[in-house]
Amino acid sequence: MRNKRPLRDIARFSAIRVYNATTPSPTRVTMDAVEEIKNRLDIVDIVSETVDLRRTGKNYIGFCPFHDNKRTPAFVVFPETGTWRCFGCNEGGDIFTFVMKREGWDFRQALEHLAERAGVTLEPRRAEDAAEREAHQRLYDLMEEAVAFYRHHLHTPAGKQALDYLHKRGLTDETIEAFGLGYAPHAWEAARKYFTGKGYTDDDLLAAGLLTQRDDGRIYDRFRHRVMFPIRDARGRAVGFGARTLDPDGIPKYLNSPQTEIFDKSRLLYGLDKAGKAIRQRDQVVIVEGYMDVIGLYQAGFPNAVSPMGVALNEGQLRTLKRYTRHMVLALDPDAAGIRATLRSMEVAREALREASGFRLDPQGLLRQESRLKADLRVALLPEGQDPDEIALADPAAWERILASAQPIILFVMHTLAADMDLDDPKAKSDLAEQVLPLIYEVANPIEQKTYLQKLSALLRVDEDTLLAWRPPQRRRKPVQRRTPARGASTAQRPTKAQTSAAAPSRTPALLASLSRQVLGLLLRAPHLRFRADRWLRAHEMQPLRAADFPAAPHRLLFEAVLAATEQEDREPQDDLVLRLPTELHAEAERCLAATAALNAEQYTPALLHALLRLRREQVNRALDELRFLLESAAEDETPLYQERLIEAIRHRGLLDRALKEGLHLPAAH
Ligand SMILES: [Zn+2]
Repeated sequence: MRNKRPLRDIARFSAIRVYNATTPSPTRVTMDAVEEIKNRLDIVDIVSETVDLRRTGKNYIGFCPFHDNKRTPAFVVFPETGTWRCFGCNEGGDIFTFVMKREGWDFRQALEHLAERAGVTLEPRRAEDAAEREAHQRLYDLMEEAVAFYRHHLHTPAGKQALDYLHKRGLTDETIEAFGLGYAPHAWEAARKYFTGKGYTDDDLLAAGLLTQRDDGRIYDRFRHRVMFPIRDARGRAVGFGARTLDPDGIPKYLNSPQTEIFDKSRLLYGLDKAGKAIRQRDQVVIVEGYMDVIGLYQAGFPNAVSPMGVALNEGQLRTLKRYTRHMVLALDPDAAGIRATLRSMEVAREALREASGFRLDPQGLLRQESRLKADLRVALLPEGQDPDEIALADPAAWERILASAQPIILFVMHTLAADMDLDDPKAKSDLAEQVLPLIYEVANPIEQKTYLQKLSALLRVDEDTLLAWRPPQRRRKPVQRRTPARGASTAQRPTKAQTSAAAPSRTPALLASLSRQVLGLLLRAPHLRFRADRWLRAHEMQPLRAADFPAAPHRLLFEAVLAATEQEDREPQDDLVLRLPTELHAEAERCLAATAALNAEQYTPALLHALLRLRREQVNRALDELRFLLESAAEDETPLYQERLIEAIRHRGLLDRALKEGLHLPAAH
């Protein structure tokens, strides 16, 4: 079968295969920006946002946020090296791995987030390189032609049912035109025939998501007999479609374009291209559930609405909106979100809602993002069974009233819960406190937090001190004191970043990075070496290669790409690797290749193992220092865990030392 992604310029990445030491290494994103960010940000600040840390000597200690631990604080932050480690679950890494793990982000998201916080400007992604830009332009052009194609069919006799549907929903021809709405014909090959006739290949059309391919290889139109909503990015370029079925039993009701080179639903907001200006002018954005809501509101004179298109509202989207305004109103449909049920039992409902379409309400997550973004996020509850577009088109004043009634998330949760409860019942009171207090603890601003406590206290008729003394079982975060110097470890006492980095031994991180590059450089050259190395390691009672061997987040990602490339069966591992490497890792990949350019193929396996064992030994040595240090300052009930880990580490180092001293006895067969 032919390559399905012709628009990606493969040849450009083949540098990885033919790389030699004389090729100038591009100075792009990756390690330079990564190092710069690490220098500017204090890992203690970042970790303290979610973990209560106490200072012990130069380091900080707390309860690990990634595993269940209550008794021994096994989670340690080392400001000098900018690293963290949990001796309970054996997780560890740098500021990037911490943020990635905490937020469930990929490396690029963590990089963008931390770069913004650090004030580091990232160089444009390589995706913007000329070749790729050209390929993307071809996609953008194709999508624009597709908008015209579907729009044309809306005004043919076959499109009458679609047009009737839009008119019935109250849209005028002018609005339909303004949003470029269309109709996908009731046929298997209408779009395919039309666009192949214009010189596009099936591969182009598959890459654009206009066609789809069945397992048996058959290719046909993705969108059939549907109302088409073109989705544009903030710059107004057509990037995808949302398509509503016209068949009353049609499944799914809405079918979206798949993820393509230019369409990433999680980063887009429907309607933002039109709404941007109005959002700035009104200093408010209204977030609604669907395409029709955005369009209806626009027609009714409320052009400041956008929709996250069925995905849970994520921080990237909120961050985008924050560039326009900090005032955000979430218009929630009580039916669809099942709000009362959700709030009554947040955990269960969160699971249930993950499967439901439309909005997913996660008050705690939203609050955290609101605090982080310094946004003002409110919730407006819609009358049951009515959509925003219906309301606004029928009675604009009613819509204004709904917006004006929007409440801060916590008050919304509090009142929604209280409406269903008998607050004379002590059990109900404590249930409500249990739900709402953790949310109040999430609020960063002490004045706001105090206000919410007062409101909760008035609502429950329980005094504030009692509320404050009450702790929800799982959460330990202190109210009010978040991010203030009074946090036990005072910022004033803490050495500044400049002092610590001056005092820190810089040799170790540099050595770790250089050893990591040697291992990865060889794996990138010959991914199958992984299996040979694992066989040797197992024969010597050692753990196989794993991501945790590499202290820096970019290196872990490179390793994971190698793993994935050797575990798929569609392509040669090297070809797969070339396609798989995220653009932001290309420069670092080339450094790894440069670090191993002088070796010839026979030296690969011994060199890889040698670098890996040294890398592990450096890490064990570091862990030993850290553990000894912890033992010095540990409370009595904390020592057993540390001692146990110390013994493990010493045994491990013995193994490594022996292997390195005796030389690597490699199996003869290569
Ligand atoms: Zn842990």
